[in-house]
Amino acid sequence: MAKTLVFLEHHDDAIAKGSLGVLTKASQVGGEVAGVLVGSGVRGLAAGAGAYGAGAVWVADDERVGPPLPQPRVDVLAKLVRDEGYDTVLFAQSVLAADVAAALAARLDAGLNWGLVDFDGETGKAPQLSDTVYVDVGWSSYVKLAIFRAGAFDASAGEGTAEVKDVPIELEDFSTQAEMVEQAHAEQQGPSIEDADVIVAGGRGLGEPEKFSLAEGLAQALGGAVAATRAVVDAGWYPYSAQVGQTGKTVSPKLYIALGISGAIQHKVGMQGSNVIVAINKDPNAPIFEFADLGVVGDLHEIVPKLTELVRARRS
Ligand SMILES: Cc1cc2nc3c(=O)[nH]c(=O)nc-3n(C[C@H](O)[C@H](O)[C@H](O)COP(=O)(O)OP(=O)(O)OC[C@H]3O[C@@H](n4cnc5c(N)ncnc54)[C@H](O)[C@@H]3O)c2cc1C
Repeated sequence: MAKTLVFLEHHDDAIAKGSLGVLTKASQVGGEVAGVLVGSGVRGLAAGAGAYGAGAVWVADDERVGPPLPQPRVDVLAKLVRDEGYDTVLFAQSVLAADVAAALAARLDAGLNWGLVDFDGETGKAPQLSDTVYVDVGWSSYVKLAIFRAGAFDASAGEGTAEVKDVPIELEDFSTQAEMVEQAHAEQQGPSIEDADVIVAGGRGLGEPEKFSLAEGLAQALGGAVAATRAVVDAGWYPYSAQVGQTGKTVSPKLYIALGISGAIQHKVGMQGSNVIVAINKDPNAPIFEFADLGVVGDLHEIVPKLTELVRARRS
């Protein structure tokens, strides 16, 4: 029987939605599925992962693995894989996951496929050529390692709690050489664009950086997050962490509202998986209208304040 281990990343006292989505997928694929939580003060999160399909959650709860550094996590995961005989280790895309997965692949001499959007236990699906084709990818040896794109799977909670088990923490000397000197969190209100059900994205059509307040106001009214195109990120109007597209993040919210965005292919590939796409653009020939579910031709500066007001009124 397949034995799958899912790396459960956590932020702000919660397991990341992306990790729970991967866990949900792993449990649908079948076999024995466990999660692994590494950090300081994380034990309380473990049992809850059972609702997403983990039969067990391994916990490495220790101050030595508190800072989000990759190498100590690689030590914990490598030992688990070897001792418990996991044949598959799955990750949701993140900076930390990429570091851990790559180093774990090197440590175990294993194959790593990344950027996947689906998995059936043996084969993964990987978008290629700017997401214009999907290719099936496999592994020529065990252990199989995979990183999935943000938003590839919905996290769906059912019943059940996971058995919580301790992992002995044995750190290699070289894994303790790096030290976290400082950690700063970006100021953020509301959900991240990877986790948000609603995204309001702004493009060059906003006209100037200050007008991102229109996107922020609408996002706040809808309980969503703000994203941006590369054009405005490159211009310094909004942080890179909000960029959606080929060289930014891939998102798949329930609702994606594009304000003053032309719909270039490099932007489209990052958001085309959204359930409903609404575009507001003053150019009726803008490419975004070719793939938007709902298009509004008009000046966003007139439309968005009224829309935001309407949403606020409805919500109150
Ligand atoms: C290798 C490579 C990688 C790239 N990666 C990315 C990526 O990851 N993400 C990304 O987004 N782009 C990426 N790009 C850039 C991409 O090609 C586009 O240039 C970019 O997406 C355009 O951003 P935009 O829609 O904000 O601006 P524009 O293309 O300038 O579009 C602005 C839109 O706003 C509309 N508008 C103007 N005023 C108003 C108004 N008052 N009301 C309503 N609408 C208005 C205009 O009609 C226009 O359609 C990449 C490009 C390359 C070459």
